[in-house]
Amino acid sequence: MEKQLKSGHLVFVLYPFQGHITPMLQLATILHSKGFSATIVHPELNSPDPSNHPEFSFISIPDKLTESEVSDGDIASLVLSLNKNCAAPFQQCMKKILHQKCSHDHTAGILYDTLMYCAQTVADDLKLPGISVRTSAAATLLLYPVFPHLDGKDSISENEMPELRSLQLQHMRALLLQNPTDAMTEVRAAMTNGTKSSSAIIVNTIHFLEQAALSKVKEYFPAPIFTIGPFHKLAPTICSSILMEDANCISWLNKQAPKSVIYVSFGSLASIDEQELIEMAWGLANSKQPFLCVIRPGFVRGSEWIESLPNGFQESLGERGCIVKWAPQKEVLAHCAVGGFWSHCGWNSTIESICEGVPMLCKPFFGDQVLNSNYICHVWRVGLELQNKLERGNIERAIKKLMVDMEGEQIRKKAMYLKEKADLCLREGGSSCCSLNELTKQISSFDY
Ligand code: UDP
Repeated sequence: MEKQLKSGHLVFVLYPFQGHITPMLQLATILHSKGFSATIVHPELNSPDPSNHPEFSFISIPDKLTESEVSDGDIASLVLSLNKNCAAPFQQCMKKILHQKCSHDHTAGILYDTLMYCAQTVADDLKLPGISVRTSAAATLLLYPVFPHLDGKDSISENEMPELRSLQLQHMRALLLQNPTDAMTEVRAAMTNGTKSSSAIIVNTIHFLEQAALSKVKEYFPAPIFTIGPFHKLAPTICSSILMEDANCISWLNKQAPKSVIYVSFGSLASIDEQELIEMAWGLANSKQPFLCVIRPGFVRGSEWIESLPNGFQESLGERGCIVKWAPQKEVLAHCAVGGFWSHCGWNSTIESICEGVPMLCKPFFGDQVLNSNYICHVWRVGLELQNKLERGNIERAIKKLMVDMEGEQIRKKAMYLKEKADLCLREGGSSCCSLNELTKQISSFDY
């Protein structure tokens, strides 16, 4: 007899930064709509606001992070501390959940951000399925398996695997080699081992964007892979911003001509110095395009906000420039006035832009942003790289090329074409829609 499908209860484990919290809560919303109940377990750092998600239960676990660990920018050490400090409290928390739930809703699995790999160890210990959720490009899963050593003794070179060239993994590796640390190697290995032991892998990507990477990922990881992205299109209404969104920029956008505005945002972590802000500001002003620019508090090193801009700069622009501390980005990118996105190429920003057909000017800062920028400019061809340092003349020329010059016409057309392809993937019969149905079946069929 065919096994009866059951839904059940799922536990989601957050990695506590904006670009990870949002997609994980989106995923919880998507699976909730498929009949699963959800508990969100999160470290204390950047706790989400439970009142925005009354349908979920929230449990905070102590992360014991020190102020310097959070602020000194050593991401690898922070990931190690988080996993070390959260493992025991998470295990206790799971035992409580299992005890409470055993009489009603069975816990069908633990879905954890790939960077919270301690959750896979807890899942193994409790004999529960662990599901690794990659909130970045699928290609990032390959970096450690293909280049396990940062000391140049890699077993596989790009020449032996020519198909990897288009993935631009070498660029990412080169970046890691600039500053290799033991902590980084340990994180890369632990993440990969966690995902290798998982019962399923979910990636916030669209199959057609990463076909080559996905077939390689399958060679290295035994678990089935589900590409159900972009999550934000399947869970459009969730509110998960850590900073307050400034909705006034939408009123400002309403007054601008179609496709005339360049939107500028570098996500939640990147930073620049005061001189770079001045170059950015003049580059934007001289481009003569209207611009909406997000300057987060803390984005300019050594400044509170934009006090390093020359006196009278904002006034001199009149209505042509709008600067905010945080924007409702998905709404901004979907606005008809926006014709370009100058981005740091975080993965969420990248797929949000692709889904709205907005071509990108790429200024990657660190980590996977370099790989994403290469995807955008050289694989999908929906963007331009802003080369060299931030300098007003370069910026002005790049914005004009992206938004108005004939030279950028192909890029603008290709961006619209990818938006249409992405739309199709989300429809009935499309790759993301089918993958989500498969995932739901897979989770429901786990023995527990
Ligand atoms: N974001 C936003 N408003 C802003 C800037 C960013 O809502 O003013 C959101 C954006 O939509 C995306 C996330 O913050 O979902 C940033 O994630 P991404 O992966 O692009 O970059 P990260 O912050 O991780 O570097």
